[in-house]
Amino acid sequence: MPLTLSILVIGKSNYYWKMGMKKSIFVLLLCAATGINAGDIALSFDDAPTASSAVMSGVDRTTAIIKALKEGAVPDALFFVTTNNIQIKGRERLNQYVQAGYHLGNHSHAHLSANKVSVNDFMSDAYQAHLILKAYGSTEPYFRFPYLHYGQNKEAVNALQSHLAELGYSNGYVTADNFDWYINAALVKAKKAGKTIDYERLGDLYVDVIWQGIMFYDDIAIKTLGRSPKHVLLLHENDVAALFLPKLIRHIKKMGWNIITPKQAYADPIAKIIPDVLFHKQGRVAALAHSKGMPTSALRHASESQEYLDDLLNSAQVFK
Ligand SMILES: [Zn+2]
Repeated sequence: MPLTLSILVIGKSNYYWKMGMKKSIFVLLLCAATGINAGDIALSFDDAPTASSAVMSGVDRTTAIIKALKEGAVPDALFFVTTNNIQIKGRERLNQYVQAGYHLGNHSHAHLSANKVSVNDFMSDAYQAHLILKAYGSTEPYFRFPYLHYGQNKEAVNALQSHLAELGYSNGYVTADNFDWYINAALVKAKKAGKTIDYERLGDLYVDVIWQGIMFYDDIAIKTLGRSPKHVLLLHENDVAALFLPKLIRHIKKMGWNIITPKQAYADPIAKIIPDVLFHKQGRVAALAHSKGMPTSALRHASESQEYLDDLLNSAQVFK
């Protein structure tokens, strides 16, 4: 059954509740009928704490994200901190996440690309972030490479992995990639230009794009690993997350998926396999699929493109 049809079926779900069908049975039947796997996914947010924007202040952004996570009963989330972003208010915002029960990971100090700088330069920057993050009580030992760039060549990739391991870090990989950052940039640009923003349509588009990405990489995993791994969703600590996280969390659950802790996700066996390839930019599932012979062109979802998203935003008339 195509996804659009399955969504229509879900739209009618209240009818089935009233008919006395238990939700869990309904979701199982639905998954069987649609071929949609009821998977597990953890949420992660990069680049925290991000600067205030034309849409909202950084403080309001953090408050909204925490509220959405709490109301959505998300058991934990990882905020990958770029420590050079920390200003006075930023420090308070990171503490807010920690006090709310969420965890921080290392996303480097200056957001350098490991594909563009030497192993030494990259590591001294990562170490600087490591020292700064020690001030916060609730860090988890995961390092996420900026831009998901893992190193200039295989020697550099291996050297960086082992140096980070010496510092106690595991790889904070993602499995589901997307261009949420571009949707956010389009929103901020439209706001600055004084355009009218249809937040309803923008929220629907955001959820749809993120969900399509999850389905795309889950499908690749099933084809190449023979199973759905515990996923890690890449998001950013941005305005679209603050605005539409409640909608996204509702959608993930409505589709029968569970939101798990990042720690549970990183306990999946794929955490132990760093594929011997240079292609890591689309996440761990894509890298594994590539190591098994799938071409990189088949490992990038159509929506991971600025032109595609511009067309989508234009045809939905999100900004007027
Ligand atoms: Zn980043």
